[in-house]
Amino acid sequence: MQLKSRVLIIASIFTLFALIAIQGYLIYNSYELKNKTFTIDARNAIAKVYNTKEVDSVMWLYRNHFLTRLESYRNNSISKKELINSLQTKASEINPNFLSFYHNGIEALIPGVDINLKIAVASINLTDSLGRKDIIFSDSDTPQLFLLGENFGVEDQLLINNSTWQKDHEFNANDTSEILDLNFKTSVYMNVVNQNSLLIKELSGLFVASSLLLLFVVSLLYYSIRNLIKQKRLSEIKTDFINNITHELKTPLSTLKLATNTFITAYEERKNSTIVKETVEIIERQNTRIQKLIDQVLKSSLGYQQIQISREHFNATVFLQELLKDYRIGMDQPISIVESIENTGVTLHADPFYLSTAIINILNNAAKYGGTELQVKYSIDAANNHLISISDNGIGISPKYQRLIFEKFYRVSEQNKHNYKGLGLGLYYTNQIIKAHQGSITVSSDGTKGSNFEIKIPVL
Ligand code: ADP
Repeated sequence: MQLKSRVLIIASIFTLFALIAIQGYLIYNSYELKNKTFTIDARNAIAKVYNTKEVDSVMWLYRNHFLTRLESYRNNSISKKELINSLQTKASEINPNFLSFYHNGIEALIPGVDINLKIAVASINLTDSLGRKDIIFSDSDTPQLFLLGENFGVEDQLLINNSTWQKDHEFNANDTSEILDLNFKTSVYMNVVNQNSLLIKELSGLFVASSLLLLFVVSLLYYSIRNLIKQKRLSEIKTDFINNITHELKTPLSTLKLATNTFITAYEERKNSTIVKETVEIIERQNTRIQKLIDQVLKSSLGYQQIQISREHFNATVFLQELLKDYRIGMDQPISIVESIENTGVTLHADPFYLSTAIINILNNAAKYGGTELQVKYSIDAANNHLISISDNGIGISPKYQRLIFEKFYRVSEQNKHNYKGLGLGLYYTNQIIKAHQGSITVSSDGTKGSNFEIKIPVL
């Protein structure tokens, strides 16, 4: 059973991790898909705007200008550098117009998304009829020659298109005319401002929903595992309790059986009246013992809501001193009890019967679990509580069990239970009594030697 639950837990945790991994993979895939679709949409929108008449007419403004300046260049009136400069100057002159057409067009197609565009010159070549090439510009000269649009950085750009303007142009120079083939290549780049955050925003619904689902599954798993462990512990505790009570009942019952047999024989023979008398006494004693055991189980099982305390005002110092005096008289083993009971003069408003039961339970435990020197202290603490502390030099309680010892039927399993008899009800009942007084009880011990129990009851 234990192995089965362990396997179940490991399998569930493994499945959970697999689920998280699959979920993460699916979200990442959705992101990639959205990214691709987004880029395709943006590219299509740009292509549409690029082919409108308005944009085309703006383009022709710089192209016509360039052809004129190209003639001057062929006539040697201007240098190559001047030709390029004049192309850039003209482009920047028409750029505002171009941008306004472009952005209006894009906004109409994909509203609310900021898609920037950049047109850069890739190369400009002139080829004469003999096939001789004049390279006016090549992007190996300068990395990029910005023409139109927004001049964003190279690292932010995504190449979406290369276009070529090809033209056979007739040049007239020094009374001769020649037809040259112009090849003007441009590259079109786009850049979507905040593309990532736009995509993340679009995917946030999916992300939140799957995170919530995962969280739900994790909490379900957590509660199931916790329940499983709790149930397991409870069943262990119950088994322990049944073993303990059976063990406790066995002795008086077998004594009873023996005594009854003796009684019957003696009674029938009517010979020896002392035997009859003694046997009846034994039967009575064992009966009382069984009764007490059963009473203890019944009484100590009560929760603090069911404990009917009737409070009285009494002097706590005197109460504790008397309790210890009586306890000493009833002690059946030599134990030293050092008292440090302050004379606080503060009245305790509590049920003296229940409170003494609680304190005696702790004293009995201290003696039962190896304590030979006990210390009982009493004072009023800084938070205005009656503070009763009982410490012993017994076997101690390991910190990992300290929280559990106040639970019903709980006994520390590391300790040899056959050496220390009990039902695991004493501290449960003590805690319930203190709770019924709106107080608290805590334990401290390093687990190797000695324990210290502290009871706090508010001054009322
Ligand atoms: P029990 O009938 O087993 O004594 P209790 O509820 O009184 O039941 O105590 C619960 C468990 O706490 C005990 O089984 C014991 O392991 C541990 N315990 C309680 N008091 C002490 C103590 N003074 N020193 C060491 N162990 C203690």
